[in-house]
Amino acid sequence: MEKQKQAVFLDRDGTIIKDVHYLSNPKEIEFLPGAIEGIKKLNEAGFLVIVISNQSGIARGILSEDLLQTIDKTMHKLLLARGAHIDGSYYCPHHPEHGTYPYNDECECRKPSPGMIIRAAKEKGIDLGRSFMIGDKPSDIEAGRRAGVKTVLVLTGLGTESKDKLERPTDRVASDLADAAAWIIDH
Ligand SMILES: [Mg+2]
Ligand SMILES: [Zn+2]
Repeated sequence: MEKQKQAVFLDRDGTIIKDVHYLSNPKEIEFLPGAIEGIKKLNEAGFLVIVISNQSGIARGILSEDLLQTIDKTMHKLLLARGAHIDGSYYCPHHPEHGTYPYNDECECRKPSPGMIIRAAKEKGIDLGRSFMIGDKPSDIEAGRRAGVKTVLVLTGLGTESKDKLERPTDRVASDLADAAAWIIDH
């Protein structure tokens, strides 16, 4: 059997790109310091790099699934132009209270639930025991913990205020995505 792959799961808003609160225009994509460099380092080290993002703006009617896909593709293209790439994206469009069917759902994918990470692992043959989750919120760290991956809290986005709100400790605190990638590669 082929050896299972190692992956780094990345939150999007506040970790890769600036959190502009329900991003709904591809022109507003702005990479955070260290983000492109960090993804490039992970690509070169042989990790699968996978985006895991809550996008309840869909349930809330702020953006459509089509627009979300356009934003995702635009982000990928911008990364490719800078020599970095992403191997997959998983988005949760739900919210337990907002919106209408099928989006007003107590789903298993919205972080802190581990559903998106577990689905990605099944679809792509990932060994979760040797994989990592990087994010700027307590829900990212909790989703990673529940999926059984190691976790890194980045101090970009809401990271600084999230540091004292973690339900369970994170394996590492890093200044940004490049710093997180360096720790993962050394680990
Ligand atoms: Mg975030
Ligand atoms: Zn969901």
